[in-house]
Amino acid sequence: MMTKPTAAAFPVSDNVAEMKASSTLAAMQAAEAMRAAGVDVVDLGAGEPDFDTPQNIKDAAAEAMRAGRTKYTPTAGIRELQQAIIGFYQREFGAGYERNEVMATAGGKQAVFNAVVSLINPGDEVLIPKPYWVTFPEIVTFARGKSVFIETEENDFVLTADVIRQAITPRTKLIILNSPSNPSGRVIPPSEFKQIMEIVAEHGLYAISDECYLRYVYPPATVFSAASMRPELRRRLCIAGSFSKTYAMTGWRVGYSLANAEWTRAMLKVQGHSTSNATSISQAAATEALNGPQESVATMLAEYTRRREWLLGALNNIPGLRCPQSEGAFYAFPDVRGCCKGKLRTSGDFANELLEKEQTVVTDGAGFGAEGFIRISYATSLDRLAEGVKRIRRVAEGGV
Ligand code: GLU
Repeated sequence: MMTKPTAAAFPVSDNVAEMKASSTLAAMQAAEAMRAAGVDVVDLGAGEPDFDTPQNIKDAAAEAMRAGRTKYTPTAGIRELQQAIIGFYQREFGAGYERNEVMATAGGKQAVFNAVVSLINPGDEVLIPKPYWVTFPEIVTFARGKSVFIETEENDFVLTADVIRQAITPRTKLIILNSPSNPSGRVIPPSEFKQIMEIVAEHGLYAISDECYLRYVYPPATVFSAASMRPELRRRLCIAGSFSKTYAMTGWRVGYSLANAEWTRAMLKVQGHSTSNATSISQAAATEALNGPQESVATMLAEYTRRREWLLGALNNIPGLRCPQSEGAFYAFPDVRGCCKGKLRTSGDFANELLEKEQTVVTDGAGFGAEGFIRISYATSLDRLAEGVKRIRRVAEGGV
């Protein structure tokens, strides 16, 4: 008798087989599935503003569609958007970028991807401070580079130039910085950032500065971009920027990179053979975001400030839980090891218990290289945050 042939396992390429799936996207999708099933879920997982995209931005997109701006654009993006980005960095940070140094991308994520794969050869070392955004090491893996992680926990996750200096080897090529940080919310003090870039230049390295949360910093911290560094340091830098957080435009998939002309030319090749251009309609919307009224950014920042103050206090009142300070983004990143007793052994167990027993989604710190911590997004209303904290307290008390 003939046996039915069994389907061979799909031969996933080595580059992709080595990559881990995105845990931030998994947390968001878990929340979405629960909502679809009618569960009263408290979603503190999503790294996504709960605000709607401002009306002037939506109107600009509608107008672009009406005017037929629905075709391919140059790979680097429409001229108006490039100029709006250059204008913003000139106005805010005194940085003089040229058009051949800026390109529009499908979100900040694509800017980081383009930048890494344009620079990294197999075996090159890439310094990645912990905790890191989950995507950084996976892109390095895809490029067959080697992620070298830098510990910052002892310093409550504040990155210093000294720890970077110690991690450099002859194979180091790149460092990926992210300030304000996703997930810790910590900000690299500008003087420290400058020293880091001096080290980068001294060793002939390059840096990517992921500035997705650029505008979301809380006093006394101030808005700072690596673009404000002197041109010799800037030459070694690729800024990855995004409209997603600043203008509540996550679904529009539009971001940008700013880097020297040669790096940009290489990135254009990558993008030219992958996604071509960021969506034409989103580019029109992003142009309006930068050139139009900015009140919506201030409104969102004020609301995040209110939530942050309440949340950090409330979390630190939970027995066994410790929440370090943070100066930016919209995440709290508490240490839950003091609540992990009995069957709760890891932050992953803690996050699972929250999900299963309390229908509350948070993101396990392990995916960010910080097992023992959980990421709580406060891009959700104070009411939902209060409900979430109640549920977290119940799990924490169960574990203590
Ligand atoms: N950056 C957001 C987060 O960390 C969105 C998800 C993602 O792209 O990773 O949750």
